[in-house]
Amino acid sequence: MLPKKIMPFVCAWCQKELTPSNADPLINNAESHSMCLKCIRENEIFEEIDISKSQYKIPWGETKINRNNVILNYRSSNKVQGNFLNRNFKEIIPLLSVKEIRNKLGGLRRRKSNGHVDFCYLLKNQQQLDLVQIELSHNVNEGCTTIKIEQVFDE
Ligand SMILES: [Zn+2]
Repeated sequence: MLPKKIMPFVCAWCQKELTPSNADPLINNAESHSMCLKCIRENEIFEEIDISKSQYKIPWGETKINRNNVILNYRSSNKVQGNFLNRNFKEIIPLLSVKEIRNKLGGLRRRKSNGHVDFCYLLKNQQQLDLVQIELSHNVNEGCTTIKIEQVFDE
């Protein structure tokens, strides 16, 4: 049997061929998610966030922030470079201006134990629309949260 990773993917709605990105954790384990961006958008599967007015490009990768949203560590998963250390996460990545994401982060920070949530959004920037998976992992002892932002697939 072929490993799932190299199975061809087509959109379940319009049969368009999909190219899962290397980083994708979602498509590899859930065939029900094999939909193209156009169909995801038309069927309103995920909420859309418009960041086209923001001056920053989303750096895909892992960012560790403290309780004051100051970036302690950053690991890129693409070519976007920049010096993000010691800067405020809100200024770099406009996702925290989205109420729902802020609420999720706030919920994790209020817990007395380590916590983890992940969710998907359609992200609209100046050039394109991306389906992204966002993972928040909160470490109570450190008081830090790791925010992982990955593109689910390229079109
Ligand atoms: Zn489709």
